[in-house]
Amino acid sequence: MQEKGTISIHTENIFPIIKKFLYSDNEIFLRELVSNAVDATQKMKRLSSLGQYNGELGELQVEVALDETAKTITISDNGIGMNADEIKKYINQIAFSGATEFMEKFKEAKDANEIIGRFGLGFYSAFMVADQVEINTLSYQEGAEPARWTCDGSTEFEITEGTRTTRGTDIILHINKDSEEFVSKQKLQEILDKYAKFLPVPIKFGERTDQVPDGEDEEGKPKYMSVVSDNIINETTPIWTKAPSELKDEDYLQFYKELYPFSEEPLFWIHLNVDYPFNLTGVLYFPKVKNDFDFQRNKIKLFSRQVFITDEVKDIVPEFLMLLHGVIDSPDIPLNVSRSFLQADSNVKKINTYITKKVADKLSEIFKADRKAYEEKWSDIGLFVKYGYVSDDKFNEKAKDFVLLTNTAKENYTLNEYKEKVTAAQTDKDGQLVYLYTNEPEKQDSFIQSATKKGYDVLVMNSPIDNHFVSQLEQKLEKTSLKRVDADVADKLIKKDDAPATVLTDDQVTQVKTVFEKAITKPGFKVELESLNPDELPVTVTMDEFMRRMKDMAQMGGGM
Ligand code: ADP
Ligand code: MG
Repeated sequence: MQEKGTISIHTENIFPIIKKFLYSDNEIFLRELVSNAVDATQKMKRLSSLGQYNGELGELQVEVALDETAKTITISDNGIGMNADEIKKYINQIAFSGATEFMEKFKEAKDANEIIGRFGLGFYSAFMVADQVEINTLSYQEGAEPARWTCDGSTEFEITEGTRTTRGTDIILHINKDSEEFVSKQKLQEILDKYAKFLPVPIKFGERTDQVPDGEDEEGKPKYMSVVSDNIINETTPIWTKAPSELKDEDYLQFYKELYPFSEEPLFWIHLNVDYPFNLTGVLYFPKVKNDFDFQRNKIKLFSRQVFITDEVKDIVPEFLMLLHGVIDSPDIPLNVSRSFLQADSNVKKINTYITKKVADKLSEIFKADRKAYEEKWSDIGLFVKYGYVSDDKFNEKAKDFVLLTNTAKENYTLNEYKEKVTAAQTDKDGQLVYLYTNEPEKQDSFIQSATKKGYDVLVMNSPIDNHFVSQLEQKLEKTSLKRVDADVADKLIKKDDAPATVLTDDQVTQVKTVFEKAITKPGFKVELESLNPDELPVTVTMDEFMRRMKDMAQMGGGM
């Protein structure tokens, strides 16, 4: 058997172009070829379970082998294999049609980086690193002839008789000069760790030597012996593929440690599991919030059928949850399309909505089940919740019941509770509620005290999101205005009837005031004296807000 032919693609010289543009991401060739090998074994398993294959299934496995002298990488499997006709159909026609499609998309894309790395080049990606690719395969079908296909990356191919005697496929890559970095055990191990760590079929890569205990020597010291075994690089059933009921807290924590060895324990997690109207599994963890947000971003790993795809989950996960950690696995996320397309994809939108809802439900559940535990976590989760409250309408709808307001006494209230707490003391004559807040509790201490003295409560709003949060609250809450405590506001607050009265007579007040006013010679300050209650500041010296800002601007030292 011998056949020569021409692969049908329209653009003759696309190989060099694609090679050049994919260069930065060319390590994905291994991901693609290993996933094809895994697919081939999964198909075998399926055929067998459907009763369409009665032979010995054997232990399904994929092997990656490196020959440093020959400069070849071989990916072998004992999957379904192919006969010559199937090679022509699946490799020549289908696999290479992906290349034509790539060129079309490539022409449209404004930014080449938009599609590179997201485009599943499949089998074709082998030519990014190899100047010759060989397929040596034997189909599982009875009476099948082994077949061998070679192609040097031009559009010419050759099919001859193959040499495989057992079911399955070897893909042999003759690594090209520019890609010799891949002729390295360490490099391949690295790439396999990144993309293949959780594939569902054991992936063997070389051998490993372990020292195992072997009794004691004459002096009673423990003895060890070297045991050589297959180096299996993956975990075939990672936790997100299991049912939550099978798992304990330790399993989730252990998996978290595996993914992020240098991180503190997460606060809690959510196990995602849905099969309609789209398929999605995964585990999302709420991490302890660090100040260095950028460092914490892009920690969610996106998988498709246990193959690692990317750390970039923008659009799939709502923006306010981008700081979460963990894993999402969905075969329904299109991987080979540009960013703008992804945003418009209906599955991606549904997934985004689903994740938002799951997170909201989990937070609500913790809040209801254990308010104290929830409050303890508030300093970490508050940022996500407020971010979601301001940026996502659907989340807002739920979060309004568990977003917390914290006052200067470090007490936490829900929106409803807070309204109830302050209505009596903080409603003005027009029936408008006034919430006071401080964004610099220390600097504004005298104003805070002055407001508390008048019976007002003051909220602390000093997180990075609180600016937006305050304005969002003002929009959402009815008949409520939020005011930052500054000199002007503190001045104008109406004293609550039962606020502690001053023990001085009007005359005495004037006398004390005069003493202070004389002592302060700089312009712009105002002296107030309201109480001699030992817990509170008896006299406050304030600077008019306008003057204060002018001073700040003039860099004459901040505040008062
Ligand atoms: P995809 O995997 O998305 O179908 P690929 O370009 O990766 O596209 O592969 C094209 C086709 O070649 C596969 O669908 C499959 O039919 C066949 N194929 C590739 N690798 C193997 C393999 N190791 N064993 C059997 N068939 C294979
Ligand atoms: Mg493939």
